[in-house]
Amino acid sequence: MAHGKCPSCNERGRPVSARTVKGNLKEPLRRDLPATGMRFCRGQQCPVLYFGPDRWRVDHDAAKSGVGVKDASDTALVCYCFDITRGAIRRELHRDGHTDVVGRITREIEDGNCDCETRNPSGKCCLGHVRQVTALIASQAAGS
Ligand SMILES: [Zn+2]
Repeated sequence: MAHGKCPSCNERGRPVSARTVKGNLKEPLRRDLPATGMRFCRGQQCPVLYFGPDRWRVDHDAAKSGVGVKDASDTALVCYCFDITRGAIRRELHRDGHTDVVGRITREIEDGNCDCETRNPSGKCCLGHVRQVTALIASQAAGS
């Protein structure tokens, strides 16, 4: 395996801390983690969630909750700090014709209420992905 590349899809993984990995895996899998070198695979079609040295790898189904980057269903979370699912954004868009989800998350972040390193599987802020998801749902709604 080339260094830093996912063993399944060969995408370059994003380095994540042990805190991030532990925060997102189901209990038994939190033991026996590699000491260093864990990475997150953001490949949408790829089953791998985290991988690391010595062929260590855990798949998406080992996550505590549906991971919105990999799971296109409406129950998958897209904002982990405030428990916002893809379905919640879709419902709001259908009901009101617009959504302020990005604004709400931004305000929560400004108030210091987010904890992306522990709660988001990628270890980074969800806002970029939430923007993408919102734009995609809005364009689907406009087209239907
Ligand atoms: Zn991958």
